[in-house]
Amino acid sequence: MYNMGDSSYIHQPKFISIENVQILAERIKKHCVQHDLRKFSITFHGGEPLLYGKTKMITIIEILKSIENDNLKIVLGLQTNALLIDDEWCEIFNKYKMGIGISLDGVKEINDQNRIDFKGKGTYDKVIRGVNKCLEHSVDFGILSVVNSKLNPIDSYRHFCSLGILGYDLLLLDKNHDAHDSAEFETADWLIKIFDEWYPHKEGIAINYFVNMLNGIYGLDIKSDAYGKGYNKTIIIETNGSIETLDVLKICGESFTKNNLNIIDNDLDDIFDSELIRLYYHSNFFLPKKCLACPVQDICGGGYIPHRYSAENGFNNPTIYCNDMLKLITHLQNKVVDAMIPEIRERSQVQKLTYEHALEIINETLPTIQEPEYTDFLESFRKTEYA
Ligand code: SF4
Repeated sequence: MYNMGDSSYIHQPKFISIENVQILAERIKKHCVQHDLRKFSITFHGGEPLLYGKTKMITIIEILKSIENDNLKIVLGLQTNALLIDDEWCEIFNKYKMGIGISLDGVKEINDQNRIDFKGKGTYDKVIRGVNKCLEHSVDFGILSVVNSKLNPIDSYRHFCSLGILGYDLLLLDKNHDAHDSAEFETADWLIKIFDEWYPHKEGIAINYFVNMLNGIYGLDIKSDAYGKGYNKTIIIETNGSIETLDVLKICGESFTKNNLNIIDNDLDDIFDSELIRLYYHSNFFLPKKCLACPVQDICGGGYIPHRYSAENGFNNPTIYCNDMLKLITHLQNKVVDAMIPEIRERSQVQKLTYEHALEIINETLPTIQEPEYTDFLESFRKTEYA
């Protein structure tokens, strides 16, 4: 997220202070009482949270857990590159029932091109050692992997199956309209190859990206802020205590997520003063015109909000992955219809929606759609206005 022009991290402390964690715990407690919340989830994210060290990590966990009571549960998670995971870390994860996400970009050759340590050496072997430690200790963990055109999709899928893990998730590369060449890589084709290999058998491994999308096709809730029609709920607390919106929005430009809110002076509810946070929370409702004409909008939701940005139009664009989403969602829908028991399919009268037909529907419907009344709001984030 800091690779596309945002250098604001230079002005922030490397680690959050114990004092700020104490203030944060009080803010969370107040927020939960005000809104009668029974559960509040906190994920440690970096950088690399394990660099904080075990003793300090236990201290801040204890501070955050101290606000738990019979009516409030604090659920902890942590995203790590796994390089430092050892037996003691696994014991900490298990003691506090933490859900762990491990970043790994597929097979050794590919991972080691992108992810290197301070000495410039590939990190794959160390990550796998961390994964095996988690398996040994039955830690609750999953793997996050970025879609990568250099990697054969089937090799990638087979590789994750071979690790003995229960599931992994796929992330699309974070880009926006100002840094994207739509001809460079057919993301949908890459994902479809994995889906077609996985869907008939599943082989004991869950691929959350597809599980969620299938849930949407079945008419169930989609648990993702990257697509679907849900209400997003995440906030970010930076190491200096500032309260910000989704960190991936930093790819939209220098200090894009910055505002004047911080945990020292503000309650968490004050986040609603931020227009960018309001946009993120409702991003799948503030859709551009094209998405309003789209037959898969309930599942796609216009895509992930950072991928919709351009300096010229702000967020008044469909995602850069629009064609990919349309192709992928229609492909999955067709596979679901194919797998239906014939009598049920006949009785429900469900029809396949092909990619070509979906495009036709968009082209026919678009001229009949009025400009949404929130268009100015979406465009207020244009580079000239939001600086
Ligand atoms: S597929 Fe494209 S047009 Fe349809 S909702 Fe997604 S981004 Fe919008």
